[in-house]
Formats: sequence, structure tokens, C-alpha cells
Amino acid sequence: MIMAKIGINISTGSLQKAEMIVGIDLGTTNSLVSIIHPETGKPVALKEFNTSSLVPSIVHFGEHGDIVIGEEARQYLESDPQRTIFSAKRLMGKSYNDIKENESFFSYKVIDDDADRLVKVQVDNKFYSPIELSSFILKELKKRAEHILKTPVNKAVITVPAYFNDAQRQATRDAGKLAGLDVLRIVNEPTAASLAYGIGLNKEEEKTIAVYDLGGGTFDISVLRIAGGIFEVLSTNGDTYLGGDDFDKAIVQYWLTQYGITTEELVNNKQLVQALRLRAEEAKKQLSSHDSFEANWNGEQLKISRATFEELIRPLVDKTIASCKNALKDAGLAADEIDTIVMVGGSTRVPAVKNAVSAFFGKPVHDEVNPDEVVALGAGIQADILAGNNKDFLLLDITPLSLGIETMGGLMDVLIPRNAKIPTKAGRQYTTQKDGQGSMRIAVYQGERDLVGDNRKLAEFNLTGIPAMPAGLPKVEVSFLINADGILMVKAKELRSGVEQEIEVKPQYGLTDNEVEKMLLESITHAQSDMQTRALVEARTEAEQILDVTEKFLSKNAALVSSEELAQTNTAIQSLREALASEDKDLIHKKVEELNEISRPFAERAMDEAVSGALKGKKI
Ligand code: ADP
Ligand code: MG
Repeated sequence: MIMAKIGINISTGSLQKAEMIVGIDLGTTNSLVSIIHPETGKPVALKEFNTSSLVPSIVHFGEHGDIVIGEEARQYLESDPQRTIFSAKRLMGKSYNDIKENESFFSYKVIDDDADRLVKVQVDNKFYSPIELSSFILKELKKRAEHILKTPVNKAVITVPAYFNDAQRQATRDAGKLAGLDVLRIVNEPTAASLAYGIGLNKEEEKTIAVYDLGGGTFDISVLRIAGGIFEVLSTNGDTYLGGDDFDKAIVQYWLTQYGITTEELVNNKQLVQALRLRAEEAKKQLSSHDSFEANWNGEQLKISRATFEELIRPLVDKTIASCKNALKDAGLAADEIDTIVMVGGSTRVPAVKNAVSAFFGKPVHDEVNPDEVVALGAGIQADILAGNNKDFLLLDITPLSLGIETMGGLMDVLIPRNAKIPTKAGRQYTTQKDGQGSMRIAVYQGERDLVGDNRKLAEFNLTGIPAMPAGLPKVEVSFLINADGILMVKAKELRSGVEQEIEVKPQYGLTDNEVEKMLLESITHAQSDMQTRALVEARTEAEQILDVTEKFLSKNAALVSSEELAQTNTAIQSLREALASEDKDLIHKKVEELNEISRPFAERAMDEAVSGALKGKKI
């Protein structure tokens, strides 16, 4: 055990220099770090004596360029909203277009001058990307961890929501890099939570679990299948704008009406509003273990009972249950097919939430591990696995949409189908369309439609330096590799000459859940017409190829063909050209076959590799 070799006693702080891999939960509301305790072998969340392990994911920029993070930054939420950045995680890998309908949520300036590019946040005259903002939080976590462990911390595992796409995962990785951390693995939050419960650590075990994660501002439900130490995400659902903050708001609202406080009174006193919000959160937390709450605020005696609170939040809790239903539906499972329900996120401490979830699934929920820390603890376990203690573990995710490349006629040729488990790889051979073609454009798309124009382009590059060869002769192998973090590498290699090119696909910005859903829906509604279009495009492509090859053959090898054959061929060519002008794929096929019938012996006669080569294989 590498971890055990690092002789650090975190209670006494006795140090020994060695490499440390930490697990980090980079949350929307709170972030924290965990490690495997060198003595107990159990994961622990790092904290300074007498403080909380949670670091609020908030960055405050002072007027004079000073930056504070965490609890200290939180004090400025109401009093200095334009310089206090919270929920940066929501902006990761997003463009302004992605978030514009929720813009009012952000009390700071999210710039919109180029709606398609990645968003930036403006503070005074400076611009910060969400990656930089997250890196400030990670830097702070790194600093704290180093202070507690008294050893450098340079390597980490960071968790992300299961629905995070490539761009968002990449952004998280980049934030780590910027903070001086080598991010060894990006792990799904529900996977980490399961690990913290020890689920999946036994290879024999097969289980279907639901992870219910209600944090400060987001709700996620994930259904996972765990078998042979492999975690597979069967479905995810949730609400990116629903969480414990909404519980606080409901209490504030209740008090405002209950005590006749008008909002005008508060408009000009941010400090007062801040105090009221904090009181509401305090009340909520107390009501998780008490029947009532009472406190003083601005000379007013504020009260709320647990029963009232439960009534206030019922619609919100019901919404989460509706999401659970949808997640089960997507996974094709009934509630009683879920073996274990794991509770994650500070807001699952609310008894009414626990009861509702337990009632829905028809069994008790697991909440023994601290719900604020459970994700970080799992990340710590994963870090330990990466440190070499559990080598044969593999964490699997799935690709939300199919990945492929554009082939002739604008068709989508899928290399990795939707829902493929990752890590995964796939490869296929392609050839050139024209004689002497020296380069080949490889355009990578994501989506379910048959025409690339209807899908989303991820990247494009040119494989250059292909030596001059007749059309159809080069063999270009295109391979896709998705690593365990969900990052796609695309490689193209011309096998005869060995020229190759490789790119890492980093999309400009990611797709929102809604977009993924929309793309899937469209692929279903358009399935019929897509199939017809594809068949027609394929028929046309094939026809153009055979026309090209035949005409080329005739112009070069007229001597090998009798005049009778020539006349026959020309007639067949003519009628194929006429068929091509139509939308009738069957007619095109028929005419292709007729021309094929006549020209096949030519190819044999000439033994021209270019001809036979061109008659098979897809072309880009
Ligand atoms: P995130 O995953 O979004 O970073 P957390 O899991 O840290 O968030 O959850 C934070 C939320 O949990 C906050 O809204 C906080 O008020 C709430 N919370 C923390 N403790 C309690 C408690 N004892 N009772 C109810 N809510 C709580
Ligand atoms: Mg969380």
C-alpha cells in the first residue's frame, strides 16, 4: 500500500515527504478534500482542528485585487454581489447561450458578447473563465491540504456529476492543472459515493443502486449497475436549479409574509437580507434534528416549526421524486429492482427528504456516511486505487451520444455508438475518392442523425502527406479512443505509407442535458426520413463511384473492350445518369447493378487494382 508507506499522522501532523494523491469533491456549493488515513486505511475528509471540512465554493475579489475563498468569501454574497462568485461549477464548459435562460440566477456579471464561445465572468475590468474561478478554489483546497498534511500535494482525483460532458470534464481537468494539480482521474460523483459505501469493492458483488444527491443548488439522481467491480451509469436525471438554497428561500419567503416585512424595507439593506438568509439556513439545519426554531433578527422574533417547513418544501421534494421516476424509466427498471439507495448532499439531512425517498423506493435509504463528505471520501478511495492498491479496478461510464465521422455525401458513419461503455476504442478503414488525393479531411461528429449536417461537429483535421495513389488504393484507418475520463482521441493513419495524424477532441463548449435530450428526440422523430435519405445518399454515392471508375477505365483501356461492349456500357451509363437525377433509390440501385453487370468483366480483364479497390470500401 503506497498510502500506508506515507507515514503521516494527520492528528499529530508528523511528516514524511512522499507523494500524496488526494480525492477532491469540487462542488457547486461546497468543496473538500479527502485522503486514505495512513493508519486506519479508511478515507477521511481533511480539516483543520475545530473547523468544518467543507470549503464554500465561493471566490470574492476585493477592490484592491485581494482574493479570498470559502467561508470568508461567503460573507460578501449579499453585500458585494458583483465581486462574489458562487456556483462557478454551473458555468464550466458552457457558452452564454447555454446559460442565458438562467442568467438572473447569477448576481455577478456573466459576459454575453459572444454567445457561442465559452462564458467569462467580469469583475471590475478583469475577465475570469469558469476554469480559472474553479482553479482558485482548487488552489485553496491544495493549500489547506498541504498545510494539514505538511507535505506537498500535486496529484488528485476530482469528481464531477455523471451527466458532465466532454467539455465540462476537460474544463475540470484544466482547472486542476491551473491549480498545480496533476488530475489523475475524473470520477463521477455517484460512483464516488458508492465507493464510499464500499459498494463495488467486492468483485463478486452485483448490484443496482440509486444515488440521490440533493446539494445546495442542484439535484441529481443516478442509477448505477455495479458488477465485477465495474460501475455503469444506467441513467441520470435531476434538476440543475433545485437544492437546499431553495429550502432557505422558502423559509425567507414565509417569514416575510408571516411578519409583514416588505421587500422594499430590505432592498437597500443587503446586510440585513444576508442575515435573514443565514437565519433561514440556520433554521433549516436545526429543523433536521429539532421540532422548531426560534431566533432574533433585526428586533423581530422569527419562528418556524418543522411541520410548517415540511409543508413549504413539499412541492420541491415532490419534484425530486418525479425525477427519480424518470431515471428509473430511462434505466428500464422498477423501484423495487433497486437494491440500494445512497443519500448524498447536505440537503438529504432533512428528514422529510429521507422519508420521501425511502417511501418512493419502498426501502430504507443509506445515510450512515456523512452526506456532505461522502463524494470526497469516495474520491479518496479512488485515489488510493490509482496509487496502486486496487489495480484491477476499472470505472466505467457511458457515452451519451454516438460518435462518428463524415463520409461521402455528408453521411454520418458511427464508430462508437451511443451508450457505449467507456473507456472504449473503435477503428475503421476508409479510402480516397480521387486519384492522387494527397490529403483527407476527417470531420468528427456527435449525434444520432444519419446526416452529419443534423449532428454536432466536434472537430476536424486533415490527414496530409498521403503519397499519390489511384483513388481507392490508400487505406486510411481512423480510430477513436475514449479514455476513462471521457476524452476522445481521434487518429487517422494511412497504412500503406504510415503517415498519421492525431488530435484530442476538445469541443468549444459542451451540450446541455436538454440539448442531448433534444438530439435524441430528433433522431427518433426523424428516424424514418433519415433512413430514406441515407439510403438515397448511399445509392447516389455508389452510382457516382461506379460511373467514375467505369469512365476512367474506358478512357485508359479502350483497347480491352469490344465496340459492342462499349455501346452497351454507354447505354448503361446514360440510363444510370438519368436515374441519378431522380429521388428513386431503387431505380438507382437497379441501374448500378446493370452497369456493374456489364463492367465487371472489364475489371477482371485489366486486373486493375484501382478499379476493384474502388468498388469496395467507404470513401471520405
Ligand atoms: P453541493 O454538492 O451543491 O456542493 P452540499 O452537498 O455541500 O452541496 O450541500 C449543501 C446544502 O446542504 C446547503 O444548502 C446546506 O444548507 C444544506 N445542509 C447542510 N447541512 C444541513 C442540515 N443539517 N439540514 C439541512 N440541510 C443542510
Ligand atoms: Mg455535491
